Amino acid sequence: MQLFSHAKRPVHLGPYPSERLGRTTEMPDLGRVAGDGTLSPTGGAGGLADAMSEFLCALDAVRQGDRNAAAAEIPDDPDERARHLKAAGYFLDSALVGICRLDAVHRLPRRIEHPDLRTVSYQASEEKLRLRFNPSAVIRQMQRSLVLTDAGIAHHTHAIVFMVEHPRDPAVDEPGAEWIVGLQGWRAALRSAETATVLANYLRILGYDACSHSATTTDVDLNRLAVSAGLGRVTSRGTVVNPFIGSRFGLAAVTTTMALAPDAPLRRQSLGDRLRAQGPGWWIGWASPKTARNRLEFARRAFKDSRFPVETLKRVDRPTTFIDEERIPRSPKSSEFFLRAAFGDLGKAAQDASKDGFSVAKAPLAAALRLALNVYSLLQRGEPAGAPAAGHDDPVRNADTVKATMHWLGADLAGVSRAPAWVWYSHRQDGTEMPVAHPLAVSVMIDQGHETMEGASGDDWISSAQSMRTYMRAGLVCGVVGRHLRRLGFSATAHSAADSDVIQTPLVLLAGLGEVSRIGDIILNPFLGPRQKTGILTTDFPMRPDKPIDFGLQTFCGSCNKCARECPSGAISSGPKVMFNGYEIWKADVEKCTRYRMTNMGGSMCGRCMKTCPWNLAGLVREAPFRWAAMNLPWAARWIARLDDALGRGRINPAKKWWWDVTNDGTGKIVQAAETNRRGLNTHIDLKYEDQTLAAYPAPLVPPPLPAPFPIDREAGIAAYRQLLSPQEHQDRLARGET
Ligand code: SF4
Repeated sequence: MQLFSHAKRPVHLGPYPSERLGRTTEMPDLGRVAGDGTLSPTGGAGGLADAMSEFLCALDAVRQGDRNAAAAEIPDDPDERARHLKAAGYFLDSALVGICRLDAVHRLPRRIEHPDLRTVSYQASEEKLRLRFNPSAVIRQMQRSLVLTDAGIAHHTHAIVFMVEHPRDPAVDEPGAEWIVGLQGWRAALRSAETATVLANYLRILGYDACSHSATTTDVDLNRLAVSAGLGRVTSRGTVVNPFIGSRFGLAAVTTTMALAPDAPLRRQSLGDRLRAQGPGWWIGWASPKTARNRLEFARRAFKDSRFPVETLKRVDRPTTFIDEERIPRSPKSSEFFLRAAFGDLGKAAQDASKDGFSVAKAPLAAALRLALNVYSLLQRGEPAGAPAAGHDDPVRNADTVKATMHWLGADLAGVSRAPAWVWYSHRQDGTEMPVAHPLAVSVMIDQGHETMEGASGDDWISSAQSMRTYMRAGLVCGVVGRHLRRLGFSATAHSAADSDVIQTPLVLLAGLGEVSRIGDIILNPFLGPRQKTGILTTDFPMRPDKPIDFGLQTFCGSCNKCARECPSGAISSGPKVMFNGYEIWKADVEKCTRYRMTNMGGSMCGRCMKTCPWNLAGLVREAPFRWAAMNLPWAARWIARLDDALGRGRINPAKKWWWDVTNDGTGKIVQAAETNRRGLNTHIDLKYEDQTLAAYPAPLVPPPLPAPFPIDREAGIAAYRQLLSPQEHQDRLARGET
């Protein structure tokens, strides 16, 4: 919880008040810097570090690649470019980002390389990917990137340095911490490498040569770069320290040919400097979102419990919405609407937008993020290494360990549930039957980030990157833990946005991460609202499931209509809940939603419902009464929603817009977007259910499990929606034995 709002603070300044630190124009003596910021590859041998090392190696394998032959239409100003790339680094969760010129003194005499880099081979996985969604785009991007190109960095002129700080050190005897003790360096290396890999790819898409450098594979001295870029000072012992973070961090960097405005190095902080940067403003939090009191993540929280007070939530035996488990039909993967768009079921415009994943990849940052997601997806499946290791027969301890590891790696929330047969697709998209592989699932939730959402309309040119960032992080978290479980001899599969065998929404509901919301397919969490995406890990690792939660959302959404009013495609129902395929939900028109997201001309994809929902909160102390009232006074929901409107929440905050409105012109060149959605609130609209025309495609209308077109019959979908029963009617029929 923060005391002060930082609504006017530009994103490129980051969460720490670094702009208040004393700086110098003189370059410090870099010869005094001890170490080069790399990790000993054998330092964490055994345990979770092995799985983390594989993911690091996979990122290292795509550190270079072809650059776009066409230079992007982006600002020429090196200051604006620097601000943009720093903001992108903060968007990807760096604690600090700095920029410097790349000089001979930063270059290592020879490259340090991950020991597995030259033997890594993804051929088999590439074959598997060929069958999956967006095959052509994935394969082309992977083929380009997975070749270990070695263009060298001799011609690179600038470096962007990313600092990732450690959370609290896990205690040796802390419940759930047994896999993560002693691995802070690996965590920071992995997370900073992810950011560097994505942004190097982004620069290449913009038409500039760029290479990422991680703690396991680098051509440059990361510590020296950190000093030059003003992220740290050298102590008398040669250690690099940051005035806010100390030496508890890991580093990665991007070197590039793009000219950028450099930062000045830090000077020895005088008393005046200290008062300015670390005086009262730093302590009470008006200087920056990070303060002396909230700086250390998990300082007062157990890793197994997450950053949020989940233990205060009311747990219930069954979800707050009815699930008629016995009558839920299993659906083939071919019923998934993005896949249907690719097959042409939604018409030519949506199909054209599907080609090469264009609807996502037209925004270059989203395209860059997708590379990391795709790399992780290559590691998300596999066979157990052998028989299950001994010592893992306590389901409570196991659940604590998995959740603590996921929260430590980067999940905002994790919860365990059973994985019943009805959450598994019945058939893969190639038509083969999908087995029910595992009895249990872990759902993870990743925050899309309040700050960037503040600057966005929800359906502009950052929207798909917001989604891709969360999908990527979920892929990392579930992928690493899945890989580790397989090494322990258990069966485990991560399910990501790139490749999933399960329908995620009901699993998230069962795991107690939220309740069904009016938005339809989004489970709303009391701490993150709808502003999140999820990932799943299924496994046979024995764990005790969590219980569902009840925080009054059914009454709240029943009285609030804001997402339905603000949805640009009119896809969200402003009416009552219905029964759809065995679930009690506010049934959204997924066809309308998909069509809009695929063909949106003023942005890339859409998440406007998340942006405008009253539960999209910043985490300020002054918002606590709202959350309390929303959870405890459901009868007041209508007034709380009106107050949210009256306060103008859900509007765009221009101070938080940091991205460029650029898009792929269809030939690969990145150009200025011809249109950009910048929406206000529709407070003048009183949306009526009876004025909406919604379609639904229950089991009898889904396509057969074949990789073939099956055009949408919208008239049949509209008729089907009108015939959906209310939950009460459904239960009455059940009582009469009529189904
Ligand atoms: Fe529920 Fe209102 Fe949020 Fe929609 S905007 S999900 S109705 S609280």
